[in-house]
Amino acid sequence: MNSLESLSASRRLVVKVGSALLVQDDGQLRRDWLDALAQDVAMLRGDGVEVMIVSSGAIAVGRRLLGLARGPRNRVLRLDESQAAAATGQVQLAHAWQEMLGRHQVPVAQILLTTDDTENRRRHLNARNTIATLLRLGVVPVINENDTVATEEIRFGDNDRLAARVAQMMGADTCLILSDIDGLYTADPTRDDSATHIGRVDAITQEIEAMAGDTAGDDGSGGMITKIEAARVAMQAGCRLAISDGRTLHPLKRLIEGEQATWFIPQGEPHTARKSWIAGSLNPVGTIVVDDGAAGALARGKSLLPAGISDVVGTFERGDPVIVAGADGAEIARGLVAYGSEDARRILGRQSDEIESILGYRGREEMIHRDDLVES
Ligand code: GLU
Repeated sequence: MNSLESLSASRRLVVKVGSALLVQDDGQLRRDWLDALAQDVAMLRGDGVEVMIVSSGAIAVGRRLLGLARGPRNRVLRLDESQAAAATGQVQLAHAWQEMLGRHQVPVAQILLTTDDTENRRRHLNARNTIATLLRLGVVPVINENDTVATEEIRFGDNDRLAARVAQMMGADTCLILSDIDGLYTADPTRDDSATHIGRVDAITQEIEAMAGDTAGDDGSGGMITKIEAARVAMQAGCRLAISDGRTLHPLKRLIEGEQATWFIPQGEPHTARKSWIAGSLNPVGTIVVDDGAAGALARGKSLLPAGISDVVGTFERGDPVIVAGADGAEIARGLVAYGSEDARRILGRQSDEIESILGYRGREEMIHRDDLVES
């Protein structure tokens, strides 16, 4: 098997776990399944893979706790009821992950996000930095949608999309969606004997979309169509996305051992994709002028430090896209700035270890980190 179609090639991985896998019909968590998955996650972590989990299940668990249970009263909840159920269930969900991963000495952190947090650059930068720090410290972030504040307009609505956005934001190389079916088929395999499994997709064509419409499989609010949408986002970010059957115990281990799945393979790499996002899709709102020393350092792939800055032009906030210009005013790079213009002016030309005493808080050492910087 090509290593592109194998989980063992991952360095930074997002695993999406749907409600139907994690929560029984009566609203109880499937603890044996979760325990087995935690073992798989600990094994991957042991192999040096950075793992993030996007876990659903808050609403399914919470509605039972609140007496809005399924059974005869299994009606569709109103938005405020879903939000109340999510707030209640999330506590138990996070606790279960903490307990199961804790058995393997893996600490977990809870992250609740809305679309705004991944799209708005300022919040994007904060969410990205926090999650990156957690990964560096060996923590497994357990991520869900922030249902309490997610109104219709800013809802992801399903965690397939959230998982792909997290993968994009974090520059993950692999996003795995655990489903109740082992991927995409040419038609619905439960109704059509001639349906064949698709092992690899290199481009999401109309034909692929049509197949997704025909393939059954629905774990929670998703369905195959939203998984294809998630695959599109991931592929654009240079991230592989796999859809595999998560129903039996140890789904990650089984996938590593070669179990069938559908792999969506992107053209580029996560790093390149993030850089083209910074270079292409953003409107710079200010300019940072740097001295020759800093320009040379940037050309050698270094971050931009406050010490090398001679002028700050325009008004911008932390996370905004800015132009980096040389002493002659010509553009040399673009990037997402770690300080707003007011603070940037106060620390320009200064050493990074002076930042805290000047601004009264300890921000980043870099004005623009090299991951957030693209040469023009
Ligand atoms: N955020 C929802 C929950 O935790 C799940 C959304 C989904 O299943 O896609 O219940």
